[in-house]
Amino acid sequence: MYGGCIMEALCRNGRIKRLLKNVIESVKILMYCLKLSWNASGVYTMLRMFCSIVPPLMGIMGSFLSKYLLDLLADKLGTGKVPEVFFLLIGGICTIKILQNLSDKVEQYIQIIHNEIMNEKLAMMLMQRSCSADMEYFDNAEYYDKLQASARDSYSIAQILWNAMSFVGACFSFVGVFVVLWAAKPIYALLLTLTAIPHGMIATRYTKTLYNLSMEQINAERKKSYIQGITLEKRYAQDIRLFHIGKLLREKYYNIWKEVFTKRKQVLRKKTVVTIVFSCLPGIITVVVGMDIGLRIFAGTASIGDYSLYMGMMEQLLSAFFIMTYSLTNVHDNKLRITNFKSVLASKNKVLDSGMREVAQVDEIVLDQVSFTYPGTKKCVLNNVSLRFRKTEKTVLVGVNGSGKTTIIKLLLRLYEPDSGRILVNGVDIKEYRLESLRRNFSVYFQEMGNYCMSLYENVIIGDAEREDEQAVYKALEQSCCGDILDKAIYGLNTNLMRMFDKDGLELSGGQYQKIALARCLYRRSTVLVLDEPSSNLDPKAEHDIFEQIRQLSDNKLTIFTSHRLSNVSLADRIIVLEHGCVVEEGTQKELLEKNQRYAELYRYQSEKFNISESKKGSENDTDSID
Ligand code: ADP
Repeated sequence: MYGGCIMEALCRNGRIKRLLKNVIESVKILMYCLKLSWNASGVYTMLRMFCSIVPPLMGIMGSFLSKYLLDLLADKLGTGKVPEVFFLLIGGICTIKILQNLSDKVEQYIQIIHNEIMNEKLAMMLMQRSCSADMEYFDNAEYYDKLQASARDSYSIAQILWNAMSFVGACFSFVGVFVVLWAAKPIYALLLTLTAIPHGMIATRYTKTLYNLSMEQINAERKKSYIQGITLEKRYAQDIRLFHIGKLLREKYYNIWKEVFTKRKQVLRKKTVVTIVFSCLPGIITVVVGMDIGLRIFAGTASIGDYSLYMGMMEQLLSAFFIMTYSLTNVHDNKLRITNFKSVLASKNKVLDSGMREVAQVDEIVLDQVSFTYPGTKKCVLNNVSLRFRKTEKTVLVGVNGSGKTTIIKLLLRLYEPDSGRILVNGVDIKEYRLESLRRNFSVYFQEMGNYCMSLYENVIIGDAEREDEQAVYKALEQSCCGDILDKAIYGLNTNLMRMFDKDGLELSGGQYQKIALARCLYRRSTVLVLDEPSSNLDPKAEHDIFEQIRQLSDNKLTIFTSHRLSNVSLADRIIVLEHGCVVEEGTQKELLEKNQRYAELYRYQSEKFNISESKKGSENDTDSID
C-alpha cells in the first residue's frame, strides 16, 4: 500500500514521469537493437556480452591480489624468506594480466566482425525499404534527410548494444569498487562519486545538443554532398568546364561548410571548456584520498597494500563511472538515431499492395474521372481525366511539355495514387490486383530511364530479371537498332557500359544509351507496351527504324506512347490530346485534322516548320517527317 502511495507521489512529479518514460523508451530501443543483433548473429551477440562483463570483474580481482602481494612484500621485507603464497599471488596476477590482454584482443576482433555483420544486415534493410517506398517519398526533402541520416547512423545499432553492454560491465565494476571503498572509508566512495556526477551530466547534455544540431544540419550536409557530387560526376563534367562553374560550386560548398562548421565549433568549444572544469574535481579528490592513506600508513593504521588497493580502486571507480556516463550518453545519443532509423523502416506506403487478384493479360485500361496532384504540391496535374486504352488500337498521348502525359503513365503503374477517380484494368480497379502482378504486365520506357555501369547483357536483362535468354537479348538489341553498339563492344554482350569501373567500358552517345534502354523494355515479356518519348534522342533513321519495329511488336499488345513529333503519330490508331491535365481532343489523325482545333494547330505548326525548311532545300513534296 505504501509502495503504491510512493509511486503515485513520484508519478505526480513531472520529472520522474519523464525519467520513467525515458527509461522505458531506452529499454525498448535496447530490446529492438538486441533483436536485430541476434538476428544478424546470435553467436557474436553472446560473445560480445561476455566480453563486456568479464574484464571489469577481473580488474577488481587484480587489485586485491596486488594489495596482498604488496602487504606480503612489506611483511617479509629483508627476512630472506620467500613464502609459497608469493608465487601463488604472482601467478594469479600474471594469469589475470594474460586474461585481460587476451579478452581485450578477442573483444576487438569480435567488435569489428560483429559491426561488419550488423552493418550489412542494416544496409540490406534500408535498401529494401528504399526500393519499396512510395515514389512520393523521393519528392520529399524531409524523407531524403531521414533516409540519409539512417544510412549514416545505421552503425549506431551495433554501437548501442556495445554501449549498453559496456554500461552493464561498468555497473558491475562500479558497485564492486564502491562497496570496497565504502567498507574502508565511506567518505572516499561518496566524495569521489559526488564529484564525478556533474561531469557525467554535462557530457550527457552536450551529447544531446550535438545530436540535435547534427539533425538540424542534415539538410545543409546533404546539399554539401550534392554539390561535391556534381564536381565528381562525369555527367556534369562538361557543363562545369563549359560554363566555368567550378569556382561557383566550390564557393557554394565552402559557404555551407562554414555555416555548419561555425555552429558545431561553438558547441564543441563550450563542451570542452565545461568538461575540463568538471573533470578536474575527481582528480583533486583522488590526490586528497592518497594523502589521507599515506598519513594513515605513517600512523600505522593502514598498510602499503591498502594504498595500492584504494588508489587502484579509486582509479577503477572513476573509470567505471566515466564508462557508465559515456555509455549512457551514447545510448541516449544513439537512441535518437535509432528512433530515426526505425521511423524510416516503419514509414507506411500510401500505395497499398492489398489486392489479391492476378492479371495475366491486359486488354483494356480505363481512367474514370481521374484527378491528381503530386504530393506536397498544390497544382492539379490531371483534372477529371477519363480515357480508354484498348488492346486493339495503338494510342498516342500528345500535348506540350508538362501537360500530364508521363503522369498518366505513372498512375497506370501505381507509382502514385490518384486523388479521386478510378483506374480499371479489364474492368477491375487496379487496386484489386497484386501490385507485382499488375506491373508484370507493363513494359515501360520512360524518358529519364538510366543505364547501369554493368555489362551490356545485364543492362538488357534487368528488364526481365527472371529470364536469362541470350538469344532474346540479341533480338531486343536488334529491334532497338543497337547493331552499331554491338559492333563496338569488344567483349560482345559481356562488354561493360561506361568506363567508371572498366577501362574497356563502352562510352555511348545519348541516342545510343536510349536505344539500350529501349532494348531493355522490348526484352521484357509483357502485355502492355508504354513508350514515353522513345525517340527523343534518336537520329531520323534510327527513329524511323525503331518506330517500324514498334509497329510490328505492338500488334498483339496494348500500346501507349507519347511523342512530341507528330510524324510518329501516324503509327497510332487513336490520338489523345492533353492540355493542362485535361483531355481536350480525341480521335484518329484524320478526324482531328478535320476538326481543325488543337491537334490540327500543333500539326500545322510542325508541318509549316518542316515545309519552310524543306522549301529552303528546294523540295516540297515530303510531309511525313515532322518535327
Ligand atoms: P509531360 O509528360 O506531359 O511533359 P508530366 O506528366 O511529366 O508532363 O508533368 C506534368 C506536370 O507535373 C508538370 O507541371 C510537372 O512539373 C509536374 N510534375 C511532374 N513530376 C512531378 C513531381 N515528382 N513532383 C511535382 N510535380 C511534378
